[in-house]
Amino acid sequence: MTATTPSACIACGRGPDDIPLIPLDYQGARLWICPQHLPVLIHDPTQLTGRLAGAEHMRPADHHD
Ligand SMILES: [Zn+2]
Repeated sequence: MTATTPSACIACGRGPDDIPLIPLDYQGARLWICPQHLPVLIHDPTQLTGRLAGAEHMRPADHHD
């Protein structure tokens, strides 16, 4: 059995009482992120290092050169 994790944004920790949350399936776990922080996951995932396993190895979706 896996422990029940309360749904909260992986970036800011806000829950569904405060903000809509988008579910993420990742490494067999259900994670949540809010719309405000979805761009962080897309463009700057290393900011989630320590909150999201392996985030330091993720690559941003695109670059703005
Ligand atoms: Zn958030």
